[in-house]
Amino acid sequence: MKAVVKTEKKRGAEVLNVPVPKIKDDEILVKVKAAAICGTDLHIYVWNKWAEEKIHPPQIMGHEFAGEVVETGKEVKRIKKGDYISAETHISCGHCYQCLTGHPEVCENLKILGVSRDGAFAEYIAIPEKIAWKNPENLPVEFAAIQEPLGNAVDTVLAEDVAGKTVAITGVGPIGLLAVGVARASGATKIIVSDLSDYHLEIAKKMGADVAVNAGKENFKEAVFEETDGLGVDVGLEMSGSGKALNDLLSVMTPGGRVSLLGLFGEDFVPVSLNDNVIFKKLRIYGITGRRIFQTWVIVSRLLSSGRLDVSPVITHKFKLEDFEKGMKLMEEKKSGKVILYP
Ligand SMILES: [Zn+2]
Ligand SMILES: [Zn+2]
Repeated sequence: MKAVVKTEKKRGAEVLNVPVPKIKDDEILVKVKAAAICGTDLHIYVWNKWAEEKIHPPQIMGHEFAGEVVETGKEVKRIKKGDYISAETHISCGHCYQCLTGHPEVCENLKILGVSRDGAFAEYIAIPEKIAWKNPENLPVEFAAIQEPLGNAVDTVLAEDVAGKTVAITGVGPIGLLAVGVARASGATKIIVSDLSDYHLEIAKKMGADVAVNAGKENFKEAVFEETDGLGVDVGLEMSGSGKALNDLLSVMTPGGRVSLLGLFGEDFVPVSLNDNVIFKKLRIYGITGRRIFQTWVIVSRLLSSGRLDVSPVITHKFKLEDFEKGMKLMEEKKSGKVILYP
C-alpha cells in the first residue's frame, strides 16, 4: 500500500510502497478515506526538537482520519466490518492512576497514533478497537477526519459553559478557527479573536467571529474593552502559544472570568503578572490537552451531525496523499486551514 513514511531523522518524508499492516486480536484494519494534516505532523516533517525526542523512524505519519473497517481481530466486539469510523489518537493503558481516576487523556503510558506507532497517511491503518469512534453514515469524510482537532477545540471552549458570554480567542490557527465555530454554536454572544495572519482572521469571521483583530497592526486590548463596554471578556481561550498573547489575554479578562490554555509555548517559563492579572482577578485557568474520551467525541459528533456547526470554511485545501508536501508547505507558511489528504 501507499504510505507517507518518515524515513530519516531529518527534514522531509517519503511516499513509499509498504505492506498492509497486520492486526492483533484486539485491533481493527481501516481503509483510510481521508486524513488531515495536524501541526504535530508538520513538527515531524520539519524535524524540530520535539520530533527528535519522540519519533523513531521509519514510521508512517498522520493521526487525523476517517475510513471504513475492512477487518476485525478475534477479540473485537463493538466495531464491525463495514463500520465508518474515526479514531481517538491517544491510546491509554487503562491501569495507571490517571486512567483509574477518569483521566485517560493524561495517561502515564500514553501511546499516540502517528507518533509512537504507525499512523494514517496510508491506504490502511491498524488501530486498537478501543479508540475507534463510529460516525453517522451521512457525515462527509472531510468533516469526520477533523473530529480529533475539533475535540481539542470543544474541550478548550467548553471547559465551562459559554452561553450568553463574551469570548476572546488569541490565535486562530486551525484549532482556534474551529473554536470560534464551537463558541458560536454553544451560545457565546460576542467573539473577539486575534492573530497575526489576515488569512486566518478572514476565515475566523466566516466561522462566526464578531471582531477580528490583527495583533501585529491593531491594539487587541483596546479593541476588547471597546467591544465589551469596558468590562473585558468572560471567557479567554489562548490558542497561539505566544507569551505576549497570553499576557494580553489575561489583561482583558473580566474579574471572575475563566481562561483555557491550549496553545503550546516555545519556552517553558512565560512571565505573567500573576498578582494583578490572575489572583486579584480571581480567574479560573484550565490547562487543556487532548480530549475527554469519549465525552468530547459525543459533543463533536452531535455538533457536526446536527448541522449546528459548519466546519467547511476551515477546510481550505484538498490533495492526493502523494502530494502531501504541498500541504506541508502551506501549513508551514501559515497559508491554510485544515489540509485534507486522500489516499
Ligand atoms: Zn492532531
Ligand atoms: Zn494509563
